[in-house]
Amino acid sequence: MKIHLLTTGGTIEKIYSEQTGQVENLIAKIDRYLQQLRLPDSQIEITPLMNKDSLQMTDQDREQILKAVRTRIAVAPVVITHGTDTMVETGRQLKRHLGTLEYPVVLTGAMTPLGFERSDGLQNLTEALFAARTLPPGVWIVIHGQNFDVEHVRKDRENARFVFAD
Ligand code: ASP
Repeated sequence: MKIHLLTTGGTIEKIYSEQTGQVENLIAKIDRYLQQLRLPDSQIEITPLMNKDSLQMTDQDREQILKAVRTRIAVAPVVITHGTDTMVETGRQLKRHLGTLEYPVVLTGAMTPLGFERSDGLQNLTEALFAARTLPPGVWIVIHGQNFDVEHVRKDRENARFVFAD
């Protein structure tokens, strides 16, 4: 089964910069981690769209994500890796503009970068890819073993998780 994977950055993709001493979005790394997964029946088509902290995303960036989803969603599910801070905002915008869907659009990210000790990145990526095959059409956030309708979720910053919301 084909699944489109669009990468946009966020903490899941951050690396440590020895120059600045900060974790930053510098080099795309989802593809490397994807290779660690056993997915014999999934054909993942990965497209790196941008590599940004989602707090820095502009309207044009979100427009670019929308266009990328629009050209892919008619034929296969789409997974988007995205910063957790504005994932809900992007997801809601996608829902508003995409109309009736044939497949699910699944957003995921991580609280700790891929490859860092106790990272939730690979878990979330795996869950999102599975969810893309099993969830009904709609726009979803999948993270930490849970799936949320994008209209009923918020980030609980204090507890580093997502929770249901009205
Ligand atoms: N500031 C980051 C972002 O939204 C936080 C994260 O990804 O967890 O890109």
